[in-house]
Amino acid sequence: MVPPDGFDRKTGSLRISLTDHCNLRCLYCMPVQALRFAPPEELLTAKEIERVAQAAVRLGFHKFRLTGGEPTLRTDLVDIVGRLAAIDGVRDLAMTTNGILLPDLAQPLRAAGLRRVNIHLDTLNPDRLKRLMRFGSVDQILAGLEAAVAAGLTPLKINCVVTLGYNDADVVDLARLTMEHDWQVRFIELMPLGGGQCAQLALSRYVPTAATRERIENALGPLEAVRSPNPADEARRFRLPGGRGEVAFISPVSEPYCGTCNRMRLTADGRFHLCLLSDDEIDVRPALRNGHAVTVDDLLRQAIAAKPSGHRLAEGLSVERRQMFQIGG
Ligand code: SAM
Ligand code: SF4
Repeated sequence: MVPPDGFDRKTGSLRISLTDHCNLRCLYCMPVQALRFAPPEELLTAKEIERVAQAAVRLGFHKFRLTGGEPTLRTDLVDIVGRLAAIDGVRDLAMTTNGILLPDLAQPLRAAGLRRVNIHLDTLNPDRLKRLMRFGSVDQILAGLEAAVAAGLTPLKINCVVTLGYNDADVVDLARLTMEHDWQVRFIELMPLGGGQCAQLALSRYVPTAATRERIENALGPLEAVRSPNPADEARRFRLPGGRGEVAFISPVSEPYCGTCNRMRLTADGRFHLCLLSDDEIDVRPALRNGHAVTVDDLLRQAIAAKPSGHRLAEGLSVERRQMFQIGG
C-alpha cells in the first residue's frame, strides 16, 4: 500500500518523462528559441528508470505513463518499455505521444508490453494544426493513430488542448470522431507553465471547459455523463447521443481535481516533481548514482509526503523553473 500523502490522498500513478526533446513545438508547451536541454549525462538511463519503477512498485504503485517531451524520440524506448512491463506489479503501462513516430514504433512497443497510448491532436484542420503545433501534420498524426489502433494500443485517447483563436472552433470535428470510433477525445484547458512566452499564450488564449462543452452540445446534441470507476480520473466523461466513444473534459483551471490527485512525476533528468504546477522537486539521482545512504524508496516516500494540497493558479502562481515539455503533463 502506498503511504497516504500529507492530505490523505493515495498516490499510485507515476508519470515518467523520458526526454525534454520534441519533434513538434506546440505554442503553449515549447518555445522555438532559447531552449536549454538537459545535458545527456543528466538523463536517467533505461536501467535507472527501471530502478525507480521497481521502487515505486515496492511502495504500491501500479500505473505508469511514459511522456516527454516526445517519448518516441528516445532511441532506447522499446528497451525501457520492456524493462517496465517485466516488473511484477506494473498493471497499467501507457504512453502520451504526438504519434508521429508510431507508424514504425507501435508494433514493437506493443510487443514489448506497452498497453495503450494517448495521442495529442489539437485539430483536424491542416493549416490550423501547423499554426498551433508548428511542425508535423494532421496526416502524420492520423497515420500514427491508425498504427496504434492496428497494434492494439487501446483504448485509445486523443488529447486536444483548446486554444482560443487557434482550434477552439475545431472541437466539434474532433468530438464527432467519437460517433464512429470507440475512442475517448479529451479537451484540456490551457495551463500557464514556466513564466515565459508559452505561459503568456496560455493566459491570453485560455478557453474554459464550459465554453467548449457548449460549442459541442450546440452542434452535436446533449452530452450524457459517463461514470468513471476511478475516483482519481482527472477527466469528466460524457457520450454524445448515439456515440460509440466518449467526449471528456480535463479542467485543471475551472474545476481543479487536486483533491483526488494520485500522481507522482519523474523528470527526464531524475527529479521527483511533486505537483505539475509547482517548482518543488526531490533529486533522485544521488540515490541512483552515488551509492548514497538514502534509497530511491526513501526519496519516493519523502516526495509523496511533501506533495502540496493543490495548485495555486487562482493566485497567479505556477511552476516557474520548468516548462511543460520539461515535465510531461
Ligand atoms: N509530446 C507528447 C504529447 O504532446 O502528447 C507528450 C508530452 S506533452 C507535454 C503531454 C500533454 O501535455 C500533451 O498531450 C498536451 O495535451 C498537454 N499540454 C502541453 N502543454 C499544455 C499546456 N500548456 N496546458 C495544458 N496541457 C498541455
Ligand atoms: Fe512536443 Fe508534446 Fe509539447 Fe507539443 S505538447 S511541443 S508534442 S512535448
